[in-house]
Amino acid sequence: MTLYELKHQTKKETAKRIKKMELEFKKAPAVKLFEKTEKYDQIIAQLGIPITAKCEHHEVQFHGEVFIGYVPNKWLVGLSKMARVSEYFLNPTIKTIQEKATNQILNYLEKILKPVGMIVVIKASHGCIGLRGVKKPSLTFTMATSGCFADQRQNHKSDFLNLVNSYKI
Ligand SMILES: [Zn+2]
Repeated sequence: MTLYELKHQTKKETAKRIKKMELEFKKAPAVKLFEKTEKYDQIIAQLGIPITAKCEHHEVQFHGEVFIGYVPNKWLVGLSKMARVSEYFLNPTIKTIQEKATNQILNYLEKILKPVGMIVVIKASHGCIGLRGVKKPSLTFTMATSGCFADQRQNHKSDFLNLVNSYKI
């Protein structure tokens, strides 16, 4: 094999690996539901789901954590599915903006689960302000709410934010 052929082959293999990786993340997650059999009407939360993606503006990586909470109505969602849905909208092959992904995760789960309410919080550190430009590593916070979490008269939102703030693994 000549050096040219070798270089060509390496390039082809890289392209193949990228394709394989894209396929891995491209599949919309099937969200399996379980019927709620217990009388449970409080928050169910999945905290600190790690994510990485690239910002649409600079194509520089950002990484952080997703926090999802909901109050179930008739259905419960498998815990791993909240991580799957987060990863679907925020993964290394995706260029997006944090606020958009926050809404997407909420809308995707809400449509399937039809809960009493849902909340999604993302805390992320963006390379585009930490590594370049102003070079001030800091945390970007976004939030989306629906149902009881959007209702000012109820405590669900502040309860959930307390969980987010006290979260430790
Ligand atoms: Zn950016």
